[in-house]
Amino acid sequence: MSDTKFNPHAMAQAQFDNIAEKLGLDQSTRDLLRVPEREMHFTIPIRMDNGKVKVFSGYRVQHSSARGPAKGGIRFHPDETIHTIRALATWMTWKCAVVDIPLGGSKGGIICDPRIMSDREQERLCRGWVRRVFDIVGPTMDVPAPDVMTNGQHMGWMMDEFDTLARGRFPGFITGKKVGGGGSLGRTEATGYGVVYCVVEALKRLKMDITKCTAAIQGSGNVAQYTLELFEKLGGTMVAISCYDHHEKKVFTYRSLKGIKAKDLFKSVDKFGTIDPKKAKTVGWEKLAGSAWLEQKVDILFPCAKENEITGENVKKIKSSVRIVAEGANGPTTPEADRVLFKNGVFVVPDFLANAGGVTVSYFEQVQNNMNYYWTHEEVLTKLREKMVSAFDAVADLAVKKKIYMRDAAYYIAVQRVADISKYRGWV
Ligand code: GLU
Repeated sequence: MSDTKFNPHAMAQAQFDNIAEKLGLDQSTRDLLRVPEREMHFTIPIRMDNGKVKVFSGYRVQHSSARGPAKGGIRFHPDETIHTIRALATWMTWKCAVVDIPLGGSKGGIICDPRIMSDREQERLCRGWVRRVFDIVGPTMDVPAPDVMTNGQHMGWMMDEFDTLARGRFPGFITGKKVGGGGSLGRTEATGYGVVYCVVEALKRLKMDITKCTAAIQGSGNVAQYTLELFEKLGGTMVAISCYDHHEKKVFTYRSLKGIKAKDLFKSVDKFGTIDPKKAKTVGWEKLAGSAWLEQKVDILFPCAKENEITGENVKKIKSSVRIVAEGANGPTTPEADRVLFKNGVFVVPDFLANAGGVTVSYFEQVQNNMNYYWTHEEVLTKLREKMVSAFDAVADLAVKKKIYMRDAAYYIAVQRVADISKYRGWV
């Protein structure tokens, strides 16, 4: 099992195999759901601003389309690998199933570093990616969205390229678009708010008062920013935040025992969510080692960065004061760390439940695109809250009933739903 630490897809498969066994799934269902339905690997040659051509590697992985068109973001990252994308596509299937939206799971990526590319280079890259995947994506097949280091502007360029090739207007091809350009109000904050909606429910079950709670968060991108915004609005105190500083190529934790304020964070980050150390100093945050976020004496930890962050090694550093781990990131906790958290009675809100708010509002965005009629901000957030709370309750009730770990309970519900529809379609 040791390679699961380094191979997120092996980790996703180990999680699935464990649940498939417990659910008693037949062999054909296991064979179907433990691997992606389809994947595409390709090159994207881009003429850079200096006149030279650079060849990028791009991917799209579709894990399952049993419950509806495949759905999932596209990541721009220099360390992207096919193993990560396969794992993320698989988790998207379980994510859409656990919140019961009629979509499957997929993920895409390009190995690149947008932080050192001009806007024009990024635009060419987005358009190049769409030209490669055109035959296997679209509103009824597979619908991309933003993820790590991609945003509404990237979605706009991708939508335009798709529309150009398809000779029409198909806003439902992609989600996370700008409001007014086919986007939904509430999409920007959806993932972070969804994390906090789950935490509010977890706190009720633990009979804890959010206004007396402290927390630490890993990551400073979109998910972390809006997790902090709502957590603070509801009265919680975020004492620490960690951030990867791509100039220094190092992770740092910033701490303020009075509380890291959302407005200060918004002022201190660039468009990729990197905190400027000078600005952090101005707002009075103390600068600590990158791992310090995990070692704070707080009630709640919010891993909201990337996969494989809480491991068998560092899980021991988590203080006994921590009652909840709410995973805004995808796959932040390894199976080795899971065993420790379960043994210690930590209430884990697992990734594909906790961070399902983003894709839920993506689904609402598509629904609005199909109607060509747009809801108010309040309507979107009310609908999001309802979806998150009912999914959370179903998972937490099952965990109590079967005396199982929250992640296993979420998997039971999600995998069963996907297995049922795969059977219903006659695939297995
Ligand atoms: N990238 C987000 C996720 O991992 C959102 C996906 C989507 O909206 O399709 O959940």
